Amino acid sequence: MASSLEQLLRRARHILVATHVSPDPDGIGSLLAVGAILDRIGAEHTLLSRDGVPYDADFLPGIERIVTEAPALFDLAIVLDCSDPRRIGSAADRLSEAFVINIDHHPTNLLFGDMNVVDVSALSTCQIVYRLAATLGLSLTKDVASCLLAGLVGDTQCFRIASTDQRALDDAAALMDSGADLGAAARGVYGSRPVGHVSLWGAVLSGAVWEGDIVSASVTLAARRAAGVPDDDDAGIVNFLQSIRGTRAAVIFSERSDGATGVSLRSVPGVDVAAVAAEFGGGGHRQAAGCTVTGSMADVRTRVLARLRQETDGTSIGRDSG
Ligand code: 5GP
Ligand code: MN
Repeated sequence: MASSLEQLLRRARHILVATHVSPDPDGIGSLLAVGAILDRIGAEHTLLSRDGVPYDADFLPGIERIVTEAPALFDLAIVLDCSDPRRIGSAADRLSEAFVINIDHHPTNLLFGDMNVVDVSALSTCQIVYRLAATLGLSLTKDVASCLLAGLVGDTQCFRIASTDQRALDDAAALMDSGADLGAAARGVYGSRPVGHVSLWGAVLSGAVWEGDIVSASVTLAARRAAGVPDDDDAGIVNFLQSIRGTRAAVIFSERSDGATGVSLRSVPGVDVAAVAAEFGGGGHRQAAGCTVTGSMADVRTRVLARLRQETDGTSIGRDSG
């Protein structure tokens, strides 16, 4: 596949490289790494992140090259870390103009590409990009290794998630061999919160609700704005809720300015929140998933919690969403 991939990349007139809305270090890290690979090949490209660069990826080298609007023309698109092409934003409407390469690791991936490089056993898209670079015969620079390690650190919560495996650790070691600094990645991703998060955590955590082993909380637009936190920033609260003893599932409901409600889900192994999110038009991983649902927070909350309760009660044990 390497040579056919390389031919495709070399033949393209202009390549759109895009990651998902509400981006994370895996999305931005893989975007920057693919940009550097295309530079090495000499392929003209644009790096698109509709929602820009979040605080936990803004330390990465090369972020000034990322734009929030798609270019006028592109004949090839590389979509990174998206299970569904609509996750890149409105540029998704123009993907039919191009040959699409879908590079992702979500089990809910819709295989929407003309070429699908989807490895659900990878813990991050950055690891897939790392392997593609090797197949293309490219050695990694320190900058590219740093971007890829940040994605791996981000998607594994710094190697703490239950599915953390030896390959993740081996890949991290290899990236460190290429010059990436693990401490800098951990600090950049987990030690760089904007101060507004403190106010938002205070407001949101004071309203957290336990129903058995499910904990949930709501983020209103008013709370976000009072804290000075951007509308698409969930401040990592759901991961904190999931860390509370006895919790089997955690969920954050976020009021969106367009009247929809964002839902962010986390769970312990055995509780499949990707299946829950997929039923509401979203997706993700078994232990970390999300969706955006039309409807008020109160309405969406009732519907999602009822479905989540079925999942934690084990009514769907034995079903495999993967
Ligand atoms: P988070 O809760 O951190 O925003 O997202 C957790 C996981 O769910 C991520 O892997 C993310 O890609 C996925 N995810 C979140 N929202 C959506 C969505 O609306 N659609 C899909 N397909 N995946 C989502
Ligand atoms: Mn990812």
